[in-house]
Amino acid sequence: MSIERTFSIIKPDAVKKNAIGGVVARLEEGGLRVVASRMVRLTEQQARAFYAVHKDRPFYGDLVKLMTEGPVVVQVLEGENAVLKNREIMGATNPEKADGGTIRKLFGTNIERNAVHGSDAPETAAQEIAFFFSGSELATLQR
Ligand code: ADP
Ligand code: MG
Repeated sequence: MSIERTFSIIKPDAVKKNAIGGVVARLEEGGLRVVASRMVRLTEQQARAFYAVHKDRPFYGDLVKLMTEGPVVVQVLEGENAVLKNREIMGATNPEKADGGTIRKLFGTNIERNAVHGSDAPETAAQEIAFFFSGSELATLQR
């Protein structure tokens, strides 16, 4: 077990549902702590770059559109095995298939508008954190 960091986005659909608090409550109840957080409106260019890994998937255009349709909350989460833990608390990509009590089951709408993003590995977590937060900004947030 090791203390790890992961990256999370509360997507526009969940922000619109007034579920920021509900999402964060589940993350905190699950043992994660928010160590950085900011509300932003992604530009199309930012969304395209952030999801570049999916650029050849049929849903890429729709994904960019939904990620830019309203403000999001970008967060850095910390805890034991944070990457996997966050994925567990989020639930499956498709909210219909997500386990009861998971964020996507509770707050997701469909496979596209599924409430949250979470890094899938420690390496991608580091890249995604750096996409939104500088090292110096993170340093000022130390407790
Ligand atoms: P996850 O967010 O669970 O890591 P992926 O990385 O596979 O899932 O996909 C990124 C995002 O793209 C998903 O969260 C969802 O918003 C969207 N997405 C994934 N698969 C599909 C699909 N089959 N149809 C439409 N949108 C999808
Ligand atoms: Mg993913």
